[in-house]
Amino acid sequence: MPQGWRASRRPSVLRAQRALEARRAPRPPQAPVALDRPAGERSAARRGGHVNAPVIEITDVRKTYAIGDIAVHALRGISLRVERGEYLAIMGASGSGKTTLMNIMGCLDTPTSGTYRLNGLDVRGIEEDTLADVRNREIGFVFQSFNLIPRTRALANVELPLSYAGVPRAARRDRALRALERVGLAERVQHLPSELSGGQQQRVAIARALVTNPAIILADEPTGNLDTAAGADVMALFDRLTQQGRTVILITHEEHVAMHARRVVRVRDGMIVSDERPHLEGAV
Ligand code: ADP
Ligand code: MG
Repeated sequence: MPQGWRASRRPSVLRAQRALEARRAPRPPQAPVALDRPAGERSAARRGGHVNAPVIEITDVRKTYAIGDIAVHALRGISLRVERGEYLAIMGASGSGKTTLMNIMGCLDTPTSGTYRLNGLDVRGIEEDTLADVRNREIGFVFQSFNLIPRTRALANVELPLSYAGVPRAARRDRALRALERVGLAERVQHLPSELSGGQQQRVAIARALVTNPAIILADEPTGNLDTAAGADVMALFDRLTQQGRTVILITHEEHVAMHARRVVRVRDGMIVSDERPHLEGAV
């Protein structure tokens, strides 16, 4: 079964898509996002988190889905710590729990047990509204199927998360334009998704993920729907982002994609089976 098909029926992803599509009903203005410090630091400090804490700290997380009488153990005791600025690939066969893990890291879903701290802050007990704000501010998502809003120009797609954050129109436009420039799409800002290639659509999605200056970029199979050349362009973009100090976590089942990362975590049957830094091996 193609992964996109199943993913699009997940309640968590549907929720995220719905949130994206709710642009016509903007939320009441919030405090504008300050630009001087990275997002993680800002909100960690404001919300009582710890600036020096790992960006992600997952401890013995389990996720069990109930399907009728059957319990599906998607995650079976995952512990993972990710420091600011890491470039991490999560690998594993289909069904091994990668997307479930990403949804938990992205606050789109909650663990059945175990703890998840984002910037030192335990996300359990944060109510849904606040959690949505945390998500919007701290995490940029990139999906396999791009998830751009159809019939909406690239620029407006990228502006969207800033509307949620209450950024005024002119600043929104300016920042979205700059984000599109950074992904090499300055000439395409007025194009509709249907007028862009897959690789270009994914770059718009990356601009949208970046525009709020999030602490983490989470990408689930970002090259899964792209041909080799477009996939390479997208990976070059992630490489550049991490060189600039962003935390990038990408999920893939392709070895050549994972080898871009500095650290590779392999998952099997809902458990971590290895955690390596391939580029350091043999470098003694
Ligand atoms: P991957 O992304 O590695 O392919 P997933 O995280 O999507 O793996 O799925 C892990 C396991 O959990 C699979 O057995 C899958 O069928 C199951 N699963 C995932 N999401 C749900 C859900 N919403 N309801 C029931 N089972 C699910
Ligand atoms: Mg998946």
